Order: sequence, then C-alpha cells, then structure tokens
Amino acid sequence: MNLKEIYVQNGALLEGHFILSSGNHSRNYLQSAKVLERPEVAELLAKELAKTIRESGIEIDTVCSPALGGLLAGYELARALAVRFIFTERKDGEMQLRRGFSVKKDERVLICEDIITTGGSALEAGREIERFGGKVVGFSAIANRGFCKRENSQIESDKTCKLPKDLPLFAIDDFQFEIYSADNCPICAEGTPAIKPGSRGNN
Ligand code: ZN
Repeated sequence: MNLKEIYVQNGALLEGHFILSSGNHSRNYLQSAKVLERPEVAELLAKELAKTIRESGIEIDTVCSPALGGLLAGYELARALAVRFIFTERKDGEMQLRRGFSVKKDERVLICEDIITTGGSALEAGREIERFGGKVVGFSAIANRGFCKRENSQIESDKTCKLPKDLPLFAIDDFQFEIYSADNCPICAEGTPAIKPGSRGNN
C-alpha cells in the first residue's frame, strides 16, 4: 500500500506554510479527516493496519482512541480486528473515559490515533485506561510522523517521542517532514503567512 499516494489522492497531504499543534512550522500538513471522510478508504487503511498488528501476535480486547482525531481511525481498526471500541475525551484539560465506558481489570487495550507525532494524547489516553485497571498493550495510528519508532521501520525514536519504549507502535508508514521553530523558519523568511489547519477561519 502506498500511503502517501492515498493522502495525495484525497487532498489530505497539504502543501504550504503551516503551524503545527506543537507550534513549529512546516511546508506539509496531514489532514487525515480528508482521507477518512470516505468510509471505503478508511476501511482499507484499517484493514492494512490490522494486518500488521495481527502479524505481531499481540492480543487485544479493545481499541481506545483519544477524541477527536483518533475516533474514525480507531473505530475502523476495532471493526477490522473484531474487538470493541471506546474513546477518551478531554474534560477540564484531563483525558477522561466518560459516557459509561468502562475497562475490566487487565483488559488488553490498544490505543489508536489518526497520526502519531510525539504521542502525547495517545499516552494520556493510555494512562486513563491504566487508571481503570486496563493494560495498554501498544499504540497505533494510520501514519507515523517519524518522531517515535514504529514496528518494521528503521527510523529510530527521537527525544521528543513521549511513548514508552517497551510498547510497540504500529502504523502503515512514516511521513517525515522538515519542521522549523517559529523563530527560525525559512518559509516565514520568504514572507508567506503561516496558517493553522483546522482552526477557525482556516481549513
Ligand atoms: Zn514559518
């Protein structure tokens, strides 16, 4: 599967001048919602991701995604793995399991995001699962930005990766883009205004 081609075909690999959620700037932005707006594409991606996960031999009872970004990817992955799906959401700044969701003691939970960058939200979702007595068995995403080490990839974790090194990260592929700090950005130097994708007034 050529993941990059699928993002390009669906207008989900944006080119321009973007402010990432970290505050850094980049010429590229992955708008996974644009890929997942087509259920048949979401299904295809989830099946590919599920195949890698199955091949690893880890056993999973439940997929859990941090809302909002991980919901579609996680739901489709749970369907592909034939397990249940739950999600955490932020309330008063804390990632919480709400809406009557619960986790049994030692229930094996895989955390799923659309994209793993440094893994901050995924890690918070995992901690909430553990607070309920569940056991986080790994992390997953459609795509990995290359800051964390993915199973079957040669790219090593860098110091910004927040995910625990003793648990696997599954993703279909890595997308590595150059990122620049806001005060040392060559695109800013070119005079192009930076936009924050998905925020009010932008796309
Ligand atoms: Zn810039």
